[in-house]
Amino acid sequence: MKNLALLALLATTAFAQAPATPAKTFDMYFLDMEGGHATLYITPTGQTILIDTGSAGDRDHDRIMAALKDAGVKELDYLVSTHYHSDHIGGFDALLKDVPVKHFIDHGTSIEMDRPVVAQFQKHYDDTTTGKRTIVKPGDKIPVTGLTALVVTSHSKVLKTPLPGAGKPNAACATFEPRDESRIDPDNPNSVGLLFTYGKFRTINLGDFTWNVEKDLMCPNNPVGTVDLYLTSHHGIDQSGSPALVHGLRPRVTIMHNGQRKGGVAQTYNTLYSSPGLEDIWQLHWAFAGGTEYNAPGRFIANVEEPAALANILLNPPGAGRGRGPGPGPGVAAGAPPTPGAAPARGPGGGGRGAGHDGPAFWIKVSAKADGSFTVTNTRNQFTKSYAAK
Ligand SMILES: [Zn+2]
Repeated sequence: MKNLALLALLATTAFAQAPATPAKTFDMYFLDMEGGHATLYITPTGQTILIDTGSAGDRDHDRIMAALKDAGVKELDYLVSTHYHSDHIGGFDALLKDVPVKHFIDHGTSIEMDRPVVAQFQKHYDDTTTGKRTIVKPGDKIPVTGLTALVVTSHSKVLKTPLPGAGKPNAACATFEPRDESRIDPDNPNSVGLLFTYGKFRTINLGDFTWNVEKDLMCPNNPVGTVDLYLTSHHGIDQSGSPALVHGLRPRVTIMHNGQRKGGVAQTYNTLYSSPGLEDIWQLHWAFAGGTEYNAPGRFIANVEEPAALANILLNPPGAGRGRGPGPGPGVAAGAPPTPGAAPARGPGGGGRGAGHDGPAFWIKVSAKADGSFTVTNTRNQFTKSYAAK
């Protein structure tokens, strides 16, 4: 009897000490599309949502395929096209050649049908997605399992009914200044925007949603509430990312999907750095416009320039070009391309050419748990940071 009791005790102890089943995570791959956009979301039950497909050509397609391979994803449950711009839907055909997609989500017909290339793509998209397409409006949910994927913006309409616990006045609206958006490509504010909620963890992706409609969404009351992780809207360019949006959402962490020369402007950084509760900025790319003054510390940046380009930035004082958005970066002498096209590609992060570098690139991976904690990893240097549940 004694021995049996001891055995029972041992068994109980062993059971108590056995590692618990690993908690299921909500995984996200933020991909470097050189200033375009593609983000892969994998729900805790293994369902998949890809938002956008980057630009046309092998570069972005190969990077998307690399992420799908890493995640063990062979088919997509949903492909969300935020809007019909080439840096978001350019990889549509290439993706469909290689990956079965079960359902397509979008905001409806582009309002740029007067542009022949848009009208042509729209017809192709409509034909390709027939029978598998859902046009969404704010308040709709993408019927994935394991988490909630709520549409908060679509076709320039915004969520009006506050989510549980949200709907409070947004103090950041007091200083909102409307912009003249007559010269902004009009499909941007039509972007499908999604709020993902997994237990206590919340993250938002608004595509290229623009400044003035941010006010429609967030003012005077904020129907969304706060988020843990915010994908810096519109690649971090200054047509989006108002304090009304960012300070209203109060993200703990932001990931900016800027390109080398797209996004990462001073205004965007200033709004982020002054956002209450923001702990870190992660970037898919070093941003020329931000220079050394604004870019996040290197360990938070997934893709950096080749040494010659970086040296050029570091050794030259801030130039007049800094902070003005896409365009020549600071300290770049006229006629001297900052990323010599002749330089051989050196794998990820190297071999800059024109508006971006070719070949593979590093991604930023996020894994979130239902308790609200999450971990962000930069695959260039394996720098990982965990954010405890609050
Ligand atoms: Zn874009």
